[in-house]
Amino acid sequence: MTALARFENTIDGRTQPSASGRWFPTLNPYTGAAWAELPWCDGADADAAVEAAHRAFISGDWPAMTATARGKLLRHLGDLIARDAQALAEIEVRDNGKLLAEMVGQVRYIPEWFHYYGGLADKIEGAVIPSDKPQMFTYTRREPLGVVVAITPWNSPLLLLAWKLAPALAAGCTVVIKPSEFTSCSTLALMALIKEAGFPDGVVNTVTGFGAEIGAALVSHPKVAKIAFTGGDATGAAVYAQAAQQIKHVTLELGGKSANIIFDDAQIDDAVRGAISGIFAASGQTCIAGSRLLVQRRICDEVTSKLVAVARTAKLGDPMQATTQVGPITTQPQREKVLGYIDIARNEGATCLLGGRIPDAPGLAQGWFVEPTIFGGVSNDMRIAREEVFGPVLSIIPFDDEDEAVAIANDSIYGLAAGVWTGSIRRAITMPDRLRAGTVWVNTYRAVSYLAPFGGYKKSGIGRESGKAAIEEYLQTKTVWINLASSVPDPFVMR
Ligand code: NAD
Repeated sequence: MTALARFENTIDGRTQPSASGRWFPTLNPYTGAAWAELPWCDGADADAAVEAAHRAFISGDWPAMTATARGKLLRHLGDLIARDAQALAEIEVRDNGKLLAEMVGQVRYIPEWFHYYGGLADKIEGAVIPSDKPQMFTYTRREPLGVVVAITPWNSPLLLLAWKLAPALAAGCTVVIKPSEFTSCSTLALMALIKEAGFPDGVVNTVTGFGAEIGAALVSHPKVAKIAFTGGDATGAAVYAQAAQQIKHVTLELGGKSANIIFDDAQIDDAVRGAISGIFAASGQTCIAGSRLLVQRRICDEVTSKLVAVARTAKLGDPMQATTQVGPITTQPQREKVLGYIDIARNEGATCLLGGRIPDAPGLAQGWFVEPTIFGGVSNDMRIAREEVFGPVLSIIPFDDEDEAVAIANDSIYGLAAGVWTGSIRRAITMPDRLRAGTVWVNTYRAVSYLAPFGGYKKSGIGRESGKAAIEEYLQTKTVWINLASSVPDPFVMR
C-alpha cells in the first residue's frame, strides 16, 4: 500500500505536524477513498498559532511595514496563485469533488482579491476632525483589529478564504486559518505561496482538525480580536455566542434558502438555464443556491417541463473530466443529509418530478452522488422550502402575482440572495427593492466579484465580504486629541 501524501500546517513560518503527532485522512468524494493525511490539531496547536499571530501583530517586520509594502506583498501573492492555479484547483477537486472546470475558473479568479486589496492597503485613511474646541487638534487613525481567526467551509475553500485573508492582511491584521476538516489541503498548499511571496513569519498560520475540538480554543482565545466565519447557521450561532463572551468582532457568512423568481414576461429559456445553474452547479453545494424556484402560475407547467428535460440530460461523473456536469456531494454525511431531505419532501406531499435517488449508473457507485432532483407541488411552509439542503434539490413553488412572489420569497429565516427573471424594466428595478436579501440578481444568477459587497440579511449572516466595505470589517477607529494650548485649563471641568 502506498503511503498517503501528507500536508503540514504552518505556524510561525515553520511547516509542522500537530503537537500530538496524530493525523487524520482526507477523502476523495469521487472515489470514496483517503488520498492525503492532515495534522490532527488540538488546543495546544491552536494556542501556538494564535500566539505566533499575536507576536507577528505586535512586533517584528509586519507592524513596521508601510501599507504600500503590505499591498505589494498581497499583489505578489495574487501573481503566485495565478501561476499555480491549475495545481491548486486539482487539489480542491480531490478534496471537494467539484468540477475541475469550475475550480480552475474559481482559483484563476482568486488573484483579483489579492490585487484589489493590495491596491486598497495604502488607501486606508483617517480624517482630521474640525474642532469645536479652541486650540485642539483632533484626528482619527484607522487601525487593524489584531489577530483574526478565519474559519472556512468545504464548498469553496480557497475562494472563501481569499474573501477574508486579502482584506484582513491589507488592513494590517495577522491571521490564523482553520479550514474545514473535509477540505484543508488547498489551504495548506497555499501557505507555501504565502512564504514565497515574502510575508513575515507568523502573519498567516494554519490549524487543521475538527471544529468541535479546536474551534472553541481558537474562538475563545483571549488574544484573538475577530472571527471571520463562513459555514452553517447553527455553527455560526455557536461561534457568535462564544465570541460575545469576550466582545470580539465577527463576520458571519451563513446559509441560505434563496428564491429564484421567474415572471411570465421573462425569456423562458434563459430563466431555465439560470434556474439550472442556481441549483445543480456545484451539485447545489453553494450558499447562494436558488433552491426555491418561484414560477408565475401561467408559465409554471412550461418552465417545469423544460427544467426537467434539461436536468435529465445532466452528465454525472468524474469531476476531473471536462464533459462532467454534476459531480459528487463533498462528504458522505452531507449525502445522507440530502437524501434525508428528499424523504422529508416526499413525506410532506411534494411530487418528485426528477431524480431523488442515488444514481445506479456504472462508474458512480464508489462516489457520493445524488441525482439532480426536482420537486413540484411544493408549498412554502414545507421543510423542503424552509431549511437549507445544500445539495442538488430544487423545489418549484407557483405564485400568481408580484405581491405573492415577494411575500413567499421574503418568508424565510434566511436572506442571502435572490434572483428575478423578467422582461419588464419596472420589475427589474422594483423587485430588488422589495426582496430582503444581501444580493439580488436580475436575469442572471451566481455572479460574484471582488468589487461587489457580499453578505446576508437575517439569519444568513452579519457583515460583508468583497468590495471596499469588507476592509472596514478588519479596522477600528482611534481618535487622537492633541492640546495645542500652552497650559491645561480647569481640571474639574470637561473640555
Ligand atoms: P459548518 O458550519 O459545518 O463548518 C464550517 C467551519 O466551521 C468548518 O471549518 C468547521 O470545522 C468549523 N466549525 C465547526 N464547529 C465549530 C465550532 N464549534 N467552533 C468553530 N468552528 C467550528 O459548515 P460546512 O458544512 O463546512 O459548510 C456548509 C455551510 O456553509 C452551509 O450552510 C453553507 O450555506 C455555508 N456557506 C455560506 C457561505 C456564505 O458566503 N454565506 C458560503 C459557503 C458556504
